[in-house]
Amino acid sequence: MLGISRKTAIKAAAATGASVVVSVAIVLLIVPVLGGHPDGPGFWMSMLCPLVIAGPASTYQFHQKETIARQRDALACMHVELEDAHRALKELHADLRTRARTDSLTGGLNREAFFSAFEAAAPGSTGPAALIIADADHFKKINDTFGHLVGDEALRRIGAAISGCVGGGDLWGRIGGEEFVVFLAGQDRQGAIHTAERIRRSVSECGMIADGRPVPVSVSIGIAWAQGPFDPADFFRQADGDLYRAKSGGRNRIVMDGREVGAAAA
Ligand code: GH3
Ligand code: MG
Ligand code: MG
Repeated sequence: MLGISRKTAIKAAAATGASVVVSVAIVLLIVPVLGGHPDGPGFWMSMLCPLVIAGPASTYQFHQKETIARQRDALACMHVELEDAHRALKELHADLRTRARTDSLTGGLNREAFFSAFEAAAPGSTGPAALIIADADHFKKINDTFGHLVGDEALRRIGAAISGCVGGGDLWGRIGGEEFVVFLAGQDRQGAIHTAERIRRSVSECGMIADGRPVPVSVSIGIAWAQGPFDPADFFRQADGDLYRAKSGGRNRIVMDGREVGAAAA
């Protein structure tokens, strides 16, 4: 009734009853002391006044108290919901950031993210560093023979092979259709050749089969290596030139400083 809860009504009735008892007790005790008789209209007024005043006043007060408590609880709930929404938004933001940097097909960095990290790493690089560029061989033929979906799967396999050959601190990504790059910081010349050779071998031995036929997946690789600081654009040009030489030298091989290196060269 009037939005007053049962709990509030009971508490208000109790408070009103207590007021009536106190008021009647005061009249019964004080009036005789003052030489009067606690009866007649005076006695009834001692009951009526607390009923008329304490009844509505205590109902209003208990109702307000209950309303404030309810609003405080609602506010606390909203606060928790807001914190949940904030946390979900932060996770979404982090996920979006990762997606914006990732090549969705292979899981490596995309072109923009790779070059931005590579260029950012260059100024602070004082030790040895290597850039490996790996390009899938005769990839157009794979697409033409087996279809685009098989071509996509071959790219995934190349990405997985690279990912399995590099360390957690190394950068790798897909910078073009069938072109991959790896940046190795702190690896000596032999270490860089060894990593490139592992990638080359891992790709050529991936054992992909489509339509019951083996898919000839391989990569040609160019490596640029420097003992100390390097210029990113020169480094890239150098590795790209050696990649071109690996292609013209027969593919599925590694070229560094203009010469073939790795197991195929031995
Ligand atoms: P080479 O050995 O000289 O590198 O020959 P190639 O056929 O690999 O090189 P080319 O540049 O002639 O062809 C690259 C092909 O890669 C053509 C393009 O359709 C294909 N390609 C590029 N991006 C993707 C992709 O995301 N998925 C698939 N399936 N194919 C792609
Ligand atoms: Mg190619
Ligand atoms: Mg290419």
